Amino acid sequence: MNIDITASETLRDELDELNNQFETGYAQDVLHWASETFGKRLAIVTSFQPTGIVTLHQMSEIAPDTTVLTLDTGLLFPETYALIDELEARLNLNLVRVKPRLTVDEQAARHGDALWETSPDHCCHLRKVVPLGDALVGYHAWISGLRRDQSPQRANTPIVSWDSRYHRVKLAPFATWTEDMIWAYIHVHNLPYNELHDRGYPSIGCFPCTSAVAQASYSRDGRWNGHNKIECGIHLAS
Ligand code: SF4
Repeated sequence: MNIDITASETLRDELDELNNQFETGYAQDVLHWASETFGKRLAIVTSFQPTGIVTLHQMSEIAPDTTVLTLDTGLLFPETYALIDELEARLNLNLVRVKPRLTVDEQAARHGDALWETSPDHCCHLRKVVPLGDALVGYHAWISGLRRDQSPQRANTPIVSWDSRYHRVKLAPFATWTEDMIWAYIHVHNLPYNELHDRGYPSIGCFPCTSAVAQASYSRDGRWNGHNKIECGIHLAS
């Protein structure tokens, strides 16, 4: 099936039909379809969390030249930067490290120190939401690492959908996978992962907003503790 992202009146029907087809299919088939349909207009967006690592491994065999976008907020853990370097080299990734328009110091000068404490939504907007919009210019579709078991808010994640924030096709090929399936894949393929997971961090984002937790209920636990916030914003409708 060819997808014309400018034909808005038929696009949603086509995506619904595809979603039904993919629901009982394999993630690899979704990745193949995305690569064949969008070619160089397809980007993987990842923060190098476990699902992203599986995505990168599979895509390195399906379409190794696919652009990989990662949001380098300037506030990532040293362990995360080390993992990015390791996977970039091992999988020969076509990686773009997307930077915010403002450095951390420029942001502090303009919006105040530790904006992540005073207004984390504004901070995420400046350091993640806007930069991803900038980076997606020229792409028609992007692959995320969303899974339905990550949080109640992600429980209805479609495998393919129209992204009303960035106005592109958005894919979540591993939406139906469980945490256990992801980790089994990583271990079977002997893939590196962020060592912070072994120190009690279920989910890993920027260091000011990420905590270890004693007993995680969901793999998104430990993010933005103390704030009424569960998503950075790139996965929310505009
Ligand atoms: S996760 Fe925290 S530090 Fe990172 S962009 Fe969002 S609010 Fe800022």
